[in-house]
Amino acid sequence: MTASPLFYQGGTDLPEVSHGQGITLWDTQGKDYLDGCAGAICCNLGHGRQDIRDAMLAQLDRVAFTYRTQFENAPALALGRALVDLTGGALQKVFFVSGGSEAVESALKLARQYVVATGQPQRRRFVSLRPSYHGSTLGALGVTGYHPLEAPFAELTHASLKVPGPDLYRHSDASDEAHIDRVLAETRAAMEAAGPETLIGVVLEPIGGASTGARLLGERYLKGMRTLCDELGCLLILDEVLTGVGRTGAWFAYQHYGVTPDLLATAKGLGAGYYPVGALLARDDIVAAVMESGGFQHGHTYAGNPLACATALAVIEAIRREDLLENARARGAELGAGLRSLAERHPWVGDVRGLSLLWGVELVADPVTREPFPAAQQRFAQITALAREEGLLVYPRRTLDGVAGDHFLVTPPLTIGADEVALLLERLGRAMARFERSLEADDTLTVPTTEARPS
Ligand code: PLP
Repeated sequence: MTASPLFYQGGTDLPEVSHGQGITLWDTQGKDYLDGCAGAICCNLGHGRQDIRDAMLAQLDRVAFTYRTQFENAPALALGRALVDLTGGALQKVFFVSGGSEAVESALKLARQYVVATGQPQRRRFVSLRPSYHGSTLGALGVTGYHPLEAPFAELTHASLKVPGPDLYRHSDASDEAHIDRVLAETRAAMEAAGPETLIGVVLEPIGGASTGARLLGERYLKGMRTLCDELGCLLILDEVLTGVGRTGAWFAYQHYGVTPDLLATAKGLGAGYYPVGALLARDDIVAAVMESGGFQHGHTYAGNPLACATALAVIEAIRREDLLENARARGAELGAGLRSLAERHPWVGDVRGLSLLWGVELVADPVTREPFPAAQQRFAQITALAREEGLLVYPRRTLDGVAGDHFLVTPPLTIGADEVALLLERLGRAMARFERSLEADDTLTVPTTEARPS
């Protein structure tokens, strides 16, 4: 084999994709794979959609790119209005970007400009959770709580104040409520010790994604954080890059919990894998203050181009037309029940958690102590490789800083049907049975050379 010119993951043992249709992908050898993780949790409509293709081609036939300082464009204006509508008007302004890291980066910069514009320049630091993942650019990495990604860049990033989020699987408090109250109290104490007058805002995912394996934070925690932000004069910045645009059975995950953010970053599902597009949504008065102080000193070339926006509009339209939020809830309930029943058969499944079509399965060496597998064993990679052999793609994550075990995400497209949920569970069941046999035999499985980074 000739050496690959690509070095983003160094992968040499992956199959080569041929084509995709619905929730299935085929490699060039003719083997089929159920896309159980929607690519990188972004292909929310599945593959090969004619309606998205038609909308993109229609826009391409008009114009692919215009620059925002030279033209208004109708798709961008319509998408802006559509996104505001999806928040029920709770957030009134939209800033376009091309991906998740850019969306988070934009949120951080807008927030900083806002505090400066409102006479609080001493607010210089963000608060975020450990573990967490908010993107790979230096600003987003500064708020990311995951040592292996942070370490090489520690001297280049502006590190946030990292606080633990709730862990409803491993805590030793008297109840989940008591645990959340303790976490909130400790977060308050950490923010007060750091000096609330130096803090810009709190950045968090309303439901953990790739970083924590779909860890739920819950209403009590999110409402508590909203209150804390209000009391300490901090902005609440939600990273819905992964959870936004329907993944959790609501347009945005925060809508399950009766809290409203000040800023919201979204991306992945917005382009549904058909085109890179993301957005920052913001409160009107935040944007107004920044614009009055001289404008937002930020922007990317491809932001809000007509093709990106026409694609995203077609995605939102398809979710509405096919009632995919309802499908995500209904199929998600079936998927969750199926995952839980598989877990009952396998003691090394420590936890199954999630909502709608965002599920995490955590593996443990000891179900009683909940001890993770030793990191060197790379169990996350083994089970993912077995699933792939069985014709199922799941999203692998290695053990995280000792606070979560190896896990994988099951996040199929929102279009998945009931029969496909059953097929997904059947293939996963076969992979899990093989994994168990390998554990019993203490076999050394071939570990693939690639590890899916959060992306
Ligand atoms: N934020 C969250 C919660 C994510 O899951 C991701 C990607 O996985 C990002 C930000 C970064 O998005 P992107 O890879 O599009 O830059």
